[in-house]
Amino acid sequence: MTVEFVIVGGGPNGLLMATELALAGVRPVVLERLTERPTAPKANGLVGRVVAALDRRGLYERFSGGAPGPEPVPGFQFGAVPFGLSTVDDNALYALPVPQRRMEELLAERGAELGVEVRRGHEVTALSQDADAVTLDVRGPDGDYRLGARYLVAADGARSLVRKAVGIGFPGITDRGFVARSGEVAVPEPYAVAGSGELDVPGVGRFRPATFTRTEHGLFAYAAFAPGRFRVSAMEWTDESLTDTYEMDVAELRAALHRVLGADVPVEVPAGAAPPRRIVGVNSRQADRYRAGRVFLVGDAAHVHSAIGGPGLNLGMADVFNLGWKLAAVLHGAPADVLDTYESERMPVGRRVIMHTRAQTALLGPGPNVTALRDLFGELLADPGAARRIHDLMAGAGIRYDTPAPAHPLAGEWLPDLALRNGSGPVRVAELLRPARPLLLDLAGRADLVDAAKGWADRVDVVRAGTDEPPADAILVRPDGYVAWAGDADATADQVRGALAAWFGPAA
Ligand SMILES: Cc1cc2nc3c(=O)[nH]c(=O)nc-3n(C[C@H](O)[C@H](O)[C@H](O)COP(=O)(O)OP(=O)(O)OC[C@H]3O[C@@H](n4cnc5c(N)ncnc54)[C@H](O)[C@@H]3O)c2cc1C
Repeated sequence: MTVEFVIVGGGPNGLLMATELALAGVRPVVLERLTERPTAPKANGLVGRVVAALDRRGLYERFSGGAPGPEPVPGFQFGAVPFGLSTVDDNALYALPVPQRRMEELLAERGAELGVEVRRGHEVTALSQDADAVTLDVRGPDGDYRLGARYLVAADGARSLVRKAVGIGFPGITDRGFVARSGEVAVPEPYAVAGSGELDVPGVGRFRPATFTRTEHGLFAYAAFAPGRFRVSAMEWTDESLTDTYEMDVAELRAALHRVLGADVPVEVPAGAAPPRRIVGVNSRQADRYRAGRVFLVGDAAHVHSAIGGPGLNLGMADVFNLGWKLAAVLHGAPADVLDTYESERMPVGRRVIMHTRAQTALLGPGPNVTALRDLFGELLADPGAARRIHDLMAGAGIRYDTPAPAHPLAGEWLPDLALRNGSGPVRVAELLRPARPLLLDLAGRADLVDAAKGWADRVDVVRAGTDEPPADAILVRPDGYVAWAGDADATADQVRGALAAWFGPAA
């Protein structure tokens, strides 16, 4: 049997990729080896521009439980050094607390609405490819079978079998001198401060949710999901020879918390929660290519790094938003070289995340020299230029993808969520992008540019709208929210046709 697209891995990035392809009119098959979603805690939430990107698919409402639009946080931490964001005028540091298991449930639900087929209990055991197709060997609940696909997206996590099978290297470092003990716990009052989500440890202090605190003995991380229900982690430097990951009892977690905080926290594992876990070492690795022929890597299959500051899904999901529409566009006639831009655009962003998470790990280290370095860093972060730079790193902002010269200042940039007015009233850019289709925005009544796009009406939405202080006469927005082309008063119909053909193929 042959299908158009196979996604290997039904974690958050694989499931998001499935919804992106389905929105673009392609029905992928997702192969996930586990029959049940794992209960072991992973991400506590999403940090950065990914939250606004989810808003551009109508997923923010589901993820936030119906909260009004995304609001950036007033301050954040870099390596547990706090800094303010009041001087960053287009602050993109959003924080959305959602346990990863819940994210996966919501993405699976959205995929089901869009007709995505997820085969749970189907493990890919081998694959090969030639010029026309990828062939997978799959072990399913009813036995082994073969599946062919035109394209394959590997979202099969850090140990990606697909990455190894196609010969993509994963260079980097494994730092084994670090051990993290984490668990989903219940804490009684008054440790759990009623109504605030805070944790109060007598003699030590009050901890706000979603914060990291460095002490002389390690790092304490804490997130709150429901009254009295928390995720706590105690991370310590160690030279012990420990095994990789294992489930442990609550006494081991409590002892580690005591060592790091210098005080007891009476944590218990609530009924139904997964046992606490110990994870040894931190990997910082990036695939040496994101593509091999018809196979593309996304998410942890392409990069792994410390979870400090929660950059993992901000990076992985942005890979998915970047690649999904390109795959569908090429299937629908766009030039094949559009797919090359996935690696050229996303690999440098991954490198930056590995750089900043390693820098943060260094800032968390033990000893008075690191304490001095942290003090200095805190002073530097009071400088607006430094705060902006670290904001961009943590938010996944400040990215400008290459566009052909001469380019408008907006080209290659993330289009802000402009407040527009069209025939039906006020509308945000985020709402217009929900169908995941490219968008030609005419902000200056440019009939010539709108006419030029007629041949692409099957693939590109054209919206005539007004806005205060339009940043351009017309803007061609990619489905991932980045600007493919923009033009001012001197823009020509030929420029519009050229940009549409380059990204979406010839006119119909
Ligand atoms: C303790 C911890 C805390 C974290 N906290 C945060 C946080 O707060 N914020 C954040 O953004 N990130 C966080 N992360 C990182 C985040 O969890 C990962 O980036 C994320 O899980 C990556 O998603 P993925 O879909 O790429 O891979 P995975 O989640 O690893 O999913 C891969 C899937 O592929 C399946 N699979 C593997 N091999 C095969 C095969 N051969 N055939 C079929 N299926 C296969 C697996 O079963 C799995 O379901 C944290 C990670 C950890 C470990």
